[in-house]
Amino acid sequence: CGIVAYIGYREACPIIIKGLHRLEYRGYDSAGVALLNGDLNVYKKKGKVAELEAFIKEKDTHANVGMGHTRWATHGEPNDTNAHPHYSTSERIAIIHNGIIENYAALKQHLQQQGHVFQSDTDTEVFVNLIEEIQQQNHCTLEEAVRLALHEVVGAYAIVVLSRDEPNQLIAARKGSPMVIGIGKDEFFIASDATPIIEYTNEVVYVNDYEIAIIRDGKLDIRSKEDVHQTPYIQKLEMEL
Ligand code: GLU
Repeated sequence: CGIVAYIGYREACPIIIKGLHRLEYRGYDSAGVALLNGDLNVYKKKGKVAELEAFIKEKDTHANVGMGHTRWATHGEPNDTNAHPHYSTSERIAIIHNGIIENYAALKQHLQQQGHVFQSDTDTEVFVNLIEEIQQQNHCTLEEAVRLALHEVVGAYAIVVLSRDEPNQLIAARKGSPMVIGIGKDEFFIASDATPIIEYTNEVVYVNDYEIAIIRDGKLDIRSKEDVHQTPYIQKLEMEL
């Protein structure tokens, strides 16, 4: 139901947790984070963001790249396993997702035949395994695999994807679910709405349907599903903190 992601020079986890609190008003049943720091660690819990915070207190959360999610379950009951982020089978790629993948059952069957193993009952875990399968088949970059996957999923989504093989990078895409990118100095934020972002920067780009945002090496690139570069329209927010 809510997404927050960060890439830059600060500690990602506190920014993400604070952002998830700001999105709590949207309603949710579980929460989780993925943090990329050589390893790709996922921590998630049914219940409130406060419970996730208690859970990660003793964990290694050091990272400058990461993402967090509050889930409003549509496919699979609210529990720790169905909470986001979700790993691909190899645990090299992680995803957070708002929305619904309508053709997940057919995709899941196909992916299981290709050897992918599923932990959860969610439609989301199908999405991340589809990305992994495409990447393995095509020996392509994560960016390309995400783009090709978008041509195969039917439904609504705002997603953020991280890969331990391409560490200094966030990839996001949307169709039918809101997504805004905050542009700071040497740092970027992604969220479902601007509330987690405004305390850091007032420069934002609203991602349009069928667009993919690639944040890599301190630069934001927005491309269409057909891989055509889009000029980002940067807006200045005039919001009170
Ligand atoms: N359909 C996904 C799930 O049930 C995402 C739900 C959401 O938007 O939070 O896990």
